[in-house]
Amino acid sequence: MTSLPANIGSFSKSVQQLWARMNPCTLCPRKCKVYRSKGQIGFCGVADMPVVSSVGPHFGEETVLVGAGGSGTIFFAGCNLGCIFCQNFDISHHCHGRQLTIEQLAQSMLQLRDYGCSNINLVTPTHLVPVIMAAIESAQKGGLNLPIVYNTGGYDSVETLKLLDGFIDIYMPDMKYSDSGVAQQFSSAADYPQVNRAGVKEMHRQVGDLQLKEGAATRGLLVRHLVLPNKLAGSFEIIDFLAEQISPKTVINVMD
Ligand code: SF4
Repeated sequence: MTSLPANIGSFSKSVQQLWARMNPCTLCPRKCKVYRSKGQIGFCGVADMPVVSSVGPHFGEETVLVGAGGSGTIFFAGCNLGCIFCQNFDISHHCHGRQLTIEQLAQSMLQLRDYGCSNINLVTPTHLVPVIMAAIESAQKGGLNLPIVYNTGGYDSVETLKLLDGFIDIYMPDMKYSDSGVAQQFSSAADYPQVNRAGVKEMHRQVGDLQLKEGAATRGLLVRHLVLPNKLAGSFEIIDFLAEQISPKTVINVMD
């Protein structure tokens, strides 16, 4: 038997479906098929409750996300990618952080609103979407009305993304690679290029091009791309893909 939260019935159908996808876990393309609510752990390294490494206003994000009060970032521990150049290795791979309940996570979101943050910025959310969406529902009942930013490494399955439709205002995926061999070598994810492109298409279908109000992002797609030495990231192919298959108006942050 899978242990589900006693109050699972009080959440939306989408949250309940997300929870089912976690037991056995097929939330992301790795499809580890572990029972997360029984405490089993797959590639991403955490069970079904969120482990959070930090919560607070962040002023180092893209200008359109920062505003006057900072971007209200919540850094989740664990990750479904294995990037050897990760700058948050302690969080993503050693899973350093504090385990929260859904209600505590919802309270954290409301605290970020009370600090005056411009949005709620979910950093590395892919492997924890059932609990995160449940917390958003709970926080919205408590008056949360900020844009929700899905800040992902870009290794998300389309089936799971479809269940996020309506929760997420701003999708901010990485597009890391165009080549399968490079994706395997640096992130242990040979299928990253096709999975990533399918995911970005679904994200754009849901929210469209990035929209700003008085310089602040309110909705839409914002892509991050990290240039790697020796053209390893396939930067030109990624930019061509965005221009030709997503939208010539796609906003992209190219990082060196
Ligand atoms: S979310 Fe984690 S456990 Fe689930 S399929 Fe992905 S890596 Fe595996």
